[in-house]
Amino acid sequence: MAQMFGFSVEATDGSARKGVIRTPRGEIRTPAFMPVGTAATVKAMLPGSVRETGADILLGNTYHLMLRPTAERIARLGGLHRFMNWERPILTDSGGFQVMSLASLRKLTEEGVRFSSHIDGSKHMLSPERSMEIQKLLGSDIVMCFDECPALPATEAEVARSMALSMRWAQRSRDAFGDRPGHALFGIMQGGVTRDLREESAKALTEIGFDGYAVGGLAVGEGQEAMFGVLDYAPGFLPQDKPRYLMGVGKPDDIVGAVERGIDMMDCVLPSRSGRTGQAWTRRGQVNIKNARHQDDPRPLDEDCTCPACRGYSRAYLHHVFKAQEMISGMLLTWHNLHYYQELMQGLRDAIGSGQLAAFVANFHAQRQAGDIEPI
Ligand SMILES: [Zn+2]
Repeated sequence: MAQMFGFSVEATDGSARKGVIRTPRGEIRTPAFMPVGTAATVKAMLPGSVRETGADILLGNTYHLMLRPTAERIARLGGLHRFMNWERPILTDSGGFQVMSLASLRKLTEEGVRFSSHIDGSKHMLSPERSMEIQKLLGSDIVMCFDECPALPATEAEVARSMALSMRWAQRSRDAFGDRPGHALFGIMQGGVTRDLREESAKALTEIGFDGYAVGGLAVGEGQEAMFGVLDYAPGFLPQDKPRYLMGVGKPDDIVGAVERGIDMMDCVLPSRSGRTGQAWTRRGQVNIKNARHQDDPRPLDEDCTCPACRGYSRAYLHHVFKAQEMISGMLLTWHNLHYYQELMQGLRDAIGSGQLAAFVANFHAQRQAGDIEPI
């Protein structure tokens, strides 16, 4: 019999949790950072290299894959894992967030969202039912509900209307998902920065019942202080025995703050995107490799880092290949950034496990303050 989806908390430290998500495709150690493989690839990385950085799970994007090469084509070719040569767990988003960002090209109704492709202008429809169908065709291990994330700035009335719609879509997503042993469906809490709306959303989702819960509608421009303000209470509204996922976060200090507040999973394009624009994240802050100050520097990006970019290359070399627009530039910096992110997650897990999270976080901030943070 296929192994079921499950989650257990192994240790807590304050609100923070260390745990493990079990899936038929392997375990996911939490708190987990999920690299983003938008178009069935984590840009500039081979899947085996992504795994070497310590990633247990990747994220794929429904919106991008449904348009190109299409979910039906991926299904015919054996599913997304086989297609992109990543056999471990994959989480797919619902497509909702990307569709909502196509402000002028979409029409929202109770049924769903009609929109035009950004690639060729072709017309498409995404609804809870269609999103569930696409994520099933892809073979996703963790499927996300189809929801609406209102564009900011939004009035409280607009956020409330949008949240209510998302809760009706959550029920339709649950009904359409059906019973799929070994696969998980996550609900998405909405409600902006309004505590009552967050609580109402959490209650509605818990009543429907999901395998995990995401905190949606954050990291959309409200700022870190407002985001942490919501995370001070919102995770507490969700069931303790299910994983909690903060979507689209974030910078290293966002991640640390979210984990302190009880978040178990996160994803962000930042480490891979930054890698392609010459920006590195290190324990001593950000390094902007295109700056002229690096052109004669024989030191690695980070003396203590064991990634291939730091073991084999100087800042001077990384500066040179960035300026020369060589492909290895994006490859090495992306590898370093993903390695740093995964090392940070391992450090957080170890610290929670040994009850040393406060000391770990204090050291994290102290190292950054002592470092040479360059403006990006
Ligand atoms: Zn490195």
